[in-house]
Amino acid sequence: MKKILFVPLALALLWAVGACNQQQKKQTSMNEAINPANMDTNVLPGNNFYEYVNGTWIKDHPVPPEYSSYGAFTVLYENNQKELKDLIDEISKKKDAPMGSVDQKIRDLFNSGMDTARINALGASVIDPELKTIQNIKNQKQLDVEVAKLHATGVHPLFYFYAGADEKNSSMEIANLHQGGLGLPDVDYYLKNDAPIKKIREAYVQYIAKLFELKGDSEKQAQKAAQQVLELETQLAKVSFTRLERRNPEKNYNKMSLAKLEKISPDFGWATYFTNLGLKNPGDINVSQLRFFKGVSKLMKEIPLSQWKTYLEWTVLNDAAPYMSEPFVQAQFDFYGKTLSGQQQMRPRWKRVLGATSGSMGEALGKLYVAKYFPPESKQRMLTLVSNLRAAFAARIKKLDWMSEGTKEKALAKLEAITVKIGYPDKWRDYSDLKIVPDNYFQNLENASKFAFEFNLNKVGKPVDKTEWGMTPQTVNAYYNPSNNEIVFPAGILQPPFFNKDADDAVNYGAIGVVIGHEMTHGFDDQGRKYDKEGNMNDWWTKEDAERFAKKTAELAKEYDHYTLLDSLHVNGDLTMGENIADLGGLNIAHDALLRSYDGKTPKPIQGFTADQRFFLSYATIWRQSIRPKELAKRLKTDVHSPAEARVNIPPFNMDVFYKDFAIKPGEKLYIAPDNRVKIW
Ligand SMILES: [Zn+2]
Repeated sequence: MKKILFVPLALALLWAVGACNQQQKKQTSMNEAINPANMDTNVLPGNNFYEYVNGTWIKDHPVPPEYSSYGAFTVLYENNQKELKDLIDEISKKKDAPMGSVDQKIRDLFNSGMDTARINALGASVIDPELKTIQNIKNQKQLDVEVAKLHATGVHPLFYFYAGADEKNSSMEIANLHQGGLGLPDVDYYLKNDAPIKKIREAYVQYIAKLFELKGDSEKQAQKAAQQVLELETQLAKVSFTRLERRNPEKNYNKMSLAKLEKISPDFGWATYFTNLGLKNPGDINVSQLRFFKGVSKLMKEIPLSQWKTYLEWTVLNDAAPYMSEPFVQAQFDFYGKTLSGQQQMRPRWKRVLGATSGSMGEALGKLYVAKYFPPESKQRMLTLVSNLRAAFAARIKKLDWMSEGTKEKALAKLEAITVKIGYPDKWRDYSDLKIVPDNYFQNLENASKFAFEFNLNKVGKPVDKTEWGMTPQTVNAYYNPSNNEIVFPAGILQPPFFNKDADDAVNYGAIGVVIGHEMTHGFDDQGRKYDKEGNMNDWWTKEDAERFAKKTAELAKEYDHYTLLDSLHVNGDLTMGENIADLGGLNIAHDALLRSYDGKTPKPIQGFTADQRFFLSYATIWRQSIRPKELAKRLKTDVHSPAEARVNIPPFNMDVFYKDFAIKPGEKLYIAPDNRVKIW
């Protein structure tokens, strides 16, 4: 799917979501804190805490047809979409917005996307010029030029280029090359041969053929093209890093000159490529996956030019499909929505167009969004919460029995140095150079892609702008960025059930408190711990401390490896390691912060639940979710986050206090013996 802006930072997110997975459903009461009606008290907390807290809610909220999953995050996302739509409607009423103003651009971008008569009339003609250029390629050099040209317009054959912080000199932006070029979500889909995967692969080939037919090929030509694409992508998959390999920061850091790159990857025209990107002297380049770029070079020789051309055409088609005429949109939905994720219906057009508008002009919309919907007092309350969480984390680090004093000192300094961003950026993106016209949706999105690309490209060789945000304010998510050693909470997540100004402390510490602790812990998870307080990849641990940490994380991985879903599927404890460490750490830190907030006086029970119980109930509430089996199966392969159910049913069971709070006994399904409970942060 079109990546309007490739997120160049290795951000550790709170949860993973593609904007295409979102959801509509009215929430009963936005301000409810803990609602006992959502629970299923027939289930013992020790057998399935997730169901105990959310069972009735899940029964009452099956996944609506247009979604692949539906939960607390999607409810907020839906709500934000409606608010953003209202803002656009208000702008659209202002007919006199001058050409070139932000109002004109938002209005025309959105309205051009809603003009289906025009879009359908244009049909495949919007991509004809690009396809012609590809068909006219006569030699390798022209191919190299075309790859650069496509990258600059947001189409990503083969690999990604972006400017990003130098991992070992985090105040400077350098050029980065990252593997890519696959239309399926993971290398497994190309290389594994179990029945469900094979079925998806066959459907993928049919989808590729369908797009070639829609642009005018005969059925026979289209089938041949589809086979060639699959074959080429399979070759790319074979030299790609797995998701697990990509989680190793050292292995993905290979800084070199253009001359060195040309030596290790001699059969792709790197100088031609960079010159045509507009970066004649790229300076230092981080070649993230050496094996991949060496492999690409080999494939350049082995695969005939005609097959490369078919592949480039395919990337143009697949990228453009969601923004073209109806048959293209439908074909893409049938594969990526239905087959891969189990969605039954497409989201209504306005939501899809809003997603593209938000993706293209996110901060322009975000500025309007926070002005209307983000109360300034939320920022103040969040700052207080963060400072309480930081103090609780520091106290825990000091007490750790497995870490040496020297390493503790450095950990505390890193914790102290974490920058906090809340709500929205202090400095907004300037959209002056983006051109938006009233009557050409495709052209508008291409302009937006080029604009985003130029913005990013211009950073190469310059200092990192640490004020920049990697997410728009309207996003319902949060992240830790290791290079900046910063935690970021967009306005979009600072609403119930995450952040509830009317609820008691226990509820807020169990929700947004855990989220804050989770993001802080990312600075100390199996990846984040490899960066120092300045955000540089730099080993500040003693060998013994690192070994004790690895032993603990291996035990945690086992708990997830053993967790079963859909009868026979398992969580991948290594793939989800960083997130699981963050969940466990976040929960412990937030619980300590809650206790500290009592100041000697334990609050009275509310609705029959003690403050401690409400803390854990609140935590389980933010993860409630209905999910389709196909989507769950896909996420188990691709998502670095554990499924919602495991996020609730594992971390609390490693905390002694939780057993007391819910009277959990040996023999119950999720019971972990005291000696086996994992304590890391
Ligand atoms: Zn996370």
